[in-house]
Amino acid sequence: MATNRTFTMIKPDAVEKGHIGGILNMITEGGFKIVSLKLTQLTVADAQKFYAVHSARPFFGELVEFMTRGPIVAAILEKDNAVEDFRKLIGATNPAEAAEGTIRKKYATSIGENAVHGSDSDENAAIEGAFHFAGRDMF
Ligand code: GDP
Repeated sequence: MATNRTFTMIKPDAVEKGHIGGILNMITEGGFKIVSLKLTQLTVADAQKFYAVHSARPFFGELVEFMTRGPIVAAILEKDNAVEDFRKLIGATNPAEAAEGTIRKKYATSIGENAVHGSDSDENAAIEGAFHFAGRDMF
């Protein structure tokens, strides 16, 4: 059963380049309601935990370094079929393969520095959202 919430991060590369506004605009224009929102920074422990599924991959160290090098925007988004629809809106992991009109096509520069995160399942969306936001900060 598809649930109606997903979790996103605007990654350090996009925050550094001043793309917070542009990306949030694509998110709301895409029909997503922002339920929770904040500017924050991941610690090394946070990033290692968040990306634990990739811990054996050769790029893991690079990924943790990238994700902790500056602030990110964390957000919970609401829409029917949120997880799947948001994955469509962000596009493929590698921007060279991302479809026209997607956030990564417009703002990502490489497979590593790819501007945004989008949860890959309803279960992970709930875990990732709860990691950043308490109930009183979900609207
Ligand atoms: P996603 O679900 O589309 O974000 O992709 P994955 O779950 O496969 O990978 C998680 C994140 O790891 C990606 O969004 C990238 O930031 C990073 N990543 C994936 N593949 C590579 C790679 O080959 N090199 C580097 N440096 N980072 C990668």
